[in-house]
Amino acid sequence: TPIEQLSTSAAQQEVAQLQADLTEYGVAYYEQDAPLVEDHVYDALYARLVALESAFPQFVTQDSPTQNVGGALTKSGLAKVEHPAPMLSLGDVFSLEELAAWDERTTKSLGFQSPYNLELKIDGLAVALTYVDGRLVQASTRGNGTIGEDVTRNVKTIKAIPQQLTEPLTIEVRGEIYMPKKSFAALNVQREADGLEPFANPRNAAAGSLRQLDAQVTKQRELSAFVYYTAEPEVLGVTTQSGALARFAELGLPTDTHNQVIEKMADIADFIATYTAKRDTLAYGIDGVVVKVNALDNQVELGNTVKIPRWAIAYKFPPEEALTVVRDIEWTV
Ligand code: NAD
Repeated sequence: TPIEQLSTSAAQQEVAQLQADLTEYGVAYYEQDAPLVEDHVYDALYARLVALESAFPQFVTQDSPTQNVGGALTKSGLAKVEHPAPMLSLGDVFSLEELAAWDERTTKSLGFQSPYNLELKIDGLAVALTYVDGRLVQASTRGNGTIGEDVTRNVKTIKAIPQQLTEPLTIEVRGEIYMPKKSFAALNVQREADGLEPFANPRNAAAGSLRQLDAQVTKQRELSAFVYYTAEPEVLGVTTQSGALARFAELGLPTDTHNQVIEKMADIADFIATYTAKRDTLAYGIDGVVVKVNALDNQVELGNTVKIPRWAIAYKFPPEEALTVVRDIEWTV
């Protein structure tokens, strides 16, 4: 039913149902790494809930999935870690028109057209890495955004993540842990041979492989990572997102090199077309493009909501065909 035709009580009922269903799907996805529905189904229900809650704000509850990052805190048995600054999610859009509307709002807030740094949206799970005097001392998952799980021993088994930076910096950096498609395909073949349930997608496989009490299991899973964020750019001496990525690489941190700065949103069309076409041939899964206001002081000016930064937006690709083709293609990095 179109939202404007809903009675208040019908809206209340639908909001409550969606909140309950999405919470249940979130528990399966974030806590058990075993989704009950496909992402595009979740995304469509989530978008409906956002629209309903914005038309009927009296039905927004504090524990609505729209007001919380990730799932509730899991009972995984891993120790808990409080994040020095919250780890947020990202707002998402599904069309160029919605991107243009986001750009218009951003431009209006800033008072000028900001350049944007475009990045691939890596299909993994977020991790925070703390380096003290250049040494990796702690790694944690996003968890509920405020408190995550301690996965230090697990992360230390991932070859792509340096134990030591090339400079003795004390800094927390954040990025994505992912499972390369090749490892994902091999893992599922093995799991089926062992009579185990295969993982639904590389993101769930990466999350399930990282969030292990026994770090030896993580070690066997061939995970990798890209770093894309720090809340402490002054430690790096950088003033832009693109500059931060370049500094991460200098420090020996893994970065995805498919990023590009554009001067205006209209320039994004080529980037999206390129990676929509190349998506299947990348060695790792991507589910969209992340657009970030490039100047870090402008990011601070725009700020965050309780759940998402206002200075970034994820453009999500249309749902992918089944992943069964991944074994037959040529891998490129
Ligand atoms: P998200 O994964 O859509 O976007 C936010 C995340 O993107 C960040 O936390 C970060 O980990 C990641 N990311 C990847 N590349 C990045 C880059 N270059 N820069 C910044 N961040 C980058 O949001 P979410 O809150 O983690 O999860 C919501 C999504 O999870 C939904 O869109 C849905 O598809 C899926 N989900 C599915 C189910 C299900 O039942 N299938 C349930 C819950 C959530």
